[in-house]
Amino acid sequence: MDMTALIADLVGIRLEQNDKIIQQKSRDFYWYSPVLKRQLDHVTGDLVASPRTEEELIRVLKACYAHDIPVTPRGTGTGNYGQAMPLSGGLVLSLADMNEIREISPGRVICGPGVICSDLDKATRAHSSQEMRMHPSTYHTATVGGFIAGGSGGVGSINWGGLRDFGNVIRLRVVTMEEEPQILELTGEDLHKVTHAYGTNGIITEVEMPLAPAYDWVDAIVGFDSFDDATLYANALARQDGILTKLITVVAAPCPFDYFKRHQKFLTEGQSVVLVMVAPHSHDAFKAFTARHSGEVVFDASMVEDLKGLPPVFELAWNHTTLRALRVDPAWTYLQSLYPFPNQIELAAKMERMFPGEMISHLEFVRFDGDITCFGLPLIRFTTEERLDEIVELHHANGCPVFNPHRFTLEEGGMKQTDEIQLAFKRQADPKGLLNPGKMIAWDDPDYDFGSGETWLFKGLKQAS
Ligand SMILES: Cc1cc2nc3c(=O)[nH]c(=O)nc-3n(C[C@H](O)[C@H](O)[C@H](O)COP(=O)(O)OP(=O)(O)OC[C@H]3O[C@@H](n4cnc5c(N)ncnc54)[C@H](O)[C@@H]3O)c2cc1C
Repeated sequence: MDMTALIADLVGIRLEQNDKIIQQKSRDFYWYSPVLKRQLDHVTGDLVASPRTEEELIRVLKACYAHDIPVTPRGTGTGNYGQAMPLSGGLVLSLADMNEIREISPGRVICGPGVICSDLDKATRAHSSQEMRMHPSTYHTATVGGFIAGGSGGVGSINWGGLRDFGNVIRLRVVTMEEEPQILELTGEDLHKVTHAYGTNGIITEVEMPLAPAYDWVDAIVGFDSFDDATLYANALARQDGILTKLITVVAAPCPFDYFKRHQKFLTEGQSVVLVMVAPHSHDAFKAFTARHSGEVVFDASMVEDLKGLPPVFELAWNHTTLRALRVDPAWTYLQSLYPFPNQIELAAKMERMFPGEMISHLEFVRFDGDITCFGLPLIRFTTEERLDEIVELHHANGCPVFNPHRFTLEEGGMKQTDEIQLAFKRQADPKGLLNPGKMIAWDDPDYDFGSGETWLFKGLKQAS
């Protein structure tokens, strides 16, 4: 790779050449997985570029194309699967400086990809009391572009479903990786080409997202003596048509008391909890409904005088639950599963009992194809990679699909099949295969057998030096 020639072509663009900083910017939260930690710990890029405008970005892409330099886009690197890690080295393309908010109108916002989710909400709230329909629990650190290219849903998915559902992204402006990069405006069906494609087939340079009315959501934690009761309550609350919530999460004992350290004084050892964000106008109804289910409201932010030092409850939920556990006990890792409707309650109860001492259940209730069901992000006590694979297989065998967070490719982390739409778009938008190499198996190995049971090996993975 001729980095000297590339650098010479990029005069005037913000570059980072300090090895330590390049290494920092080459990482994400891959280390949640002991498997990815082993495989990717050495991975680092050779240069970081941070364009501020689309013109600068196009200059970077053209130069990398001319010099055959791999380009790995990056928001703020909060992804979990090595998504934003430059497996073959080359250029890390930081989009964080493309963070202009351009237009806010009823029901929509237009902005650059690098806007941090909470900054976006701050602006839309101040402008017209609106907010993002959904955001990751990394609200305060993740970019909106990274969420669309690498995320799946989160806080708000209880009302709006997942990020890839029709209507949850309105329009994306995308620049291709060709000798003469094209600028495309994608809407409708075409959005599926680049949403959750890990930046393997185009760079998002502008985002148009739908907005919802903003509320001063009230955080609450409801305690139950049994996991099953917590699950039944959470499912029933999610199905209450008149109570507006933004988050309904079940976390089984002993995780809440042992790992939610800053809330520990409100929690009771041995209790499983339901984390809730409820709209102020639904607060009374929520309390009445909870009493009817014999739930104990152990924490209600509207009743606590001093909230200083307490994170919002969404920072106990989604993948923050894993983070809280890992901080106290690094032997934990996690899985991502789905408990399909209409059997979510039975499946969650069954899996909770299947791995005593080895798994702590964690459910995220969501709207999914019009029904209420839940995803699982269970904590898993790591022993060996073989046992981890066995636990994944046991989930599959029991009707709970796993989106494996211990794999860095789109296919293995998803449904173990090629997304033909994304692959076809990559052929058009990235003919040299320079964008985020190693993340789309179908590009490198079109005949790969997903039924082989093996982990795919990326031949281009730069070896540790
Ligand atoms: C504690 C914790 C909690 C989390 N909770 C959630 C959650 O609730 N929901 C959820 O979905 N995810 C969650 N995540 C994962 C991650 O935080 C989110 O998906 C986040 O939105 C990613 O944004 P980012 O800016 O960090 O993207 P990055 O990690 O930098 O990038 C993500 C992917 O997008 C690509 N990319 C970034 N910007 C662009 C662009 N402009 N054009 C093309 N490709 C691009 C990158 O190459 C990479 O493949 C969590 C992670 C952690 C560590």
